Parts: sequence; structure tokens; C-alpha cells
Amino acid sequence: MFSDTHFHFQNMTENRGVDGVAVLTSMAERGCRFGLDIGTEADDLLRREYCLEKAITAMEFGAAQKARDFVYFSAGIWPSVDEIRARAERIEVLKGQIEAAAKDENQDTLHRKIVALGEFGLDHHWNPSGVDGRCESDFDDKTYFGEQELFEMQLNLARDMKLPSIIHSRDAFEDTLECIKRVGNHDGIIHCYSYGLEEAKKFLDLGWYISFSGSVTYTKKSKMDAMLELLRYVPQDRILCETDSPYLAPVPHRGEPCSPVLVEHTYRFVAQARGVSLEDLCETVDKNIDQLFFQNR
Ligand SMILES: [Zn+2]
Repeated sequence: MFSDTHFHFQNMTENRGVDGVAVLTSMAERGCRFGLDIGTEADDLLRREYCLEKAITAMEFGAAQKARDFVYFSAGIWPSVDEIRARAERIEVLKGQIEAAAKDENQDTLHRKIVALGEFGLDHHWNPSGVDGRCESDFDDKTYFGEQELFEMQLNLARDMKLPSIIHSRDAFEDTLECIKRVGNHDGIIHCYSYGLEEAKKFLDLGWYISFSGSVTYTKKSKMDAMLELLRYVPQDRILCETDSPYLAPVPHRGEPCSPVLVEHTYRFVAQARGVSLEDLCETVDKNIDQLFFQNR
């Protein structure tokens, strides 16, 4: 139960003080089937693996075995200005990192378990004082088109590698749609979905999965009806839940560092909106995870 398709374990444990051993142990105890640690930089995979490996090694044997089974990795380049500018070189670094991991036959490491490319995409949310420090002034024409190019390079790479994509798209709906249509790769997740119902229909029609994070639990009152309608609309075979830990902690933990354990609150909220039991929603999401990441790969 309570799989989480999107978290940043190293960021959560090393920068936000979350106890990684306790989190993984609790996930194991609750029968978690799948937890996906997400990459944001071309060369962060080894660091992230080391961080998770260290936590798993410190766990009790039984829970550690379970964590080894349910933890998976993605690798990808989040569109920071630096990564956009160095994109030609960085995409090669990313490729090399994934290929090296695939060749590693050491069964004791978590190396083999790269199941997706991401997160990557487009972000036009300007908040210079936020964690990502994004400024509109950094986005001249060159950067703006460079961001799209980096996005499309990764969509193409994902297709070449036969991996699903984890798409980050914020305040950039039209451009996102244009890029994915141009490449014609519609295999993956629109993560932390933040648009409305009409936009969701466009992604769903193309074949994308929609993943909801804790942000659905603190929807503004004036937008709640629309949110509930959206949560009810997404078809059973395309819905996922995630945390994006350490960000976006759901109600009643808003403002705290988030961890995958808190994904339960998002499941509860979504299940209630859809009029299904918590167990049913967990089962639905696990089925979708199996379909997306493991079947026909
Ligand atoms: Zn993320």
C-alpha cells in the first residue's frame, strides 16, 4: 500500500532533516510496493544511490530486504538555467550514467533499478526567493528555446532507451503540449499535476498518466469543486499518487518537510473525492505502476 511515484530522498534526508531509515522502515511495514527516487541533475545518480544504500544498510534485516525490493530510481535533468545552458554536454553525461548503471551486474547494489527518465520538462514559474530561485530575467529567448530543446532531447532519449518519462510542467501548459506533440513520445507521467480538467483531457487523450501530489489536499476553497471534478475525471487506469518529498507536504502536515510516509493523506483525499475505498485506490495505483514501469518494457 501507499506507493510513492516521486520523491527526492537525498534532498529530504540531507537537507531537510528527515530520518531516512525511519521513513523506509515505515514504508516497508506498511507494505509499500514501489517508491521512486527522482533525479534532477545529469550526474546525481551515484550520489542518490549511495544515500539510499547507506540508509538501507542501517535498517533491520527484514525491512531492509523489503526496501531493496521497492526502491527504484529515475535519472533526468531538471531545467535549471545552468543545465539548460550546458545541455549538449549534460545530456551525454546523463546518457553515460544510465548506460553504466545498466551494465553493472553487481546484484548487491541498487544500480539495476532505473525505471524512468526524469524529472525533466518546462518551468515558467517565477519565484526568485523560492528553493529553485527562478527569475524571468534569466529566461532570455536563448534560454527559453534551450529549455524546450533540453526537454525534447530527453523525450527522445527516453524513447531510445524505452523508458517512461517523468514530466515536470509548471505554468507552461501550451509549450509542454507543443513539445510532447512535436516529439510524439507520450509514454509517461505528468507529475505533480497542477493544471485544470480541460488540460488534463489533452494529456490523457495522448496517453499520459496523471500523478497527484499533496497539493490537492490544500486546494483553495474557491477552486475545490473544480479539483474534485478533476480527481473524479481521471480514468482508473491513468491515475497515480506521489509526494515530491521533501516538498508539498499534504494537510495536516503542511509546512513540514514531506516524506513518502505522508503520501497516505493524499491517497485518502483522492479516494474520498472519487468515492472509492483507500484500499481500492492503493490497488489501482499499484496496478498502474506495474503497467507503466514494468509491463512490456
Ligand atoms: Zn520532484
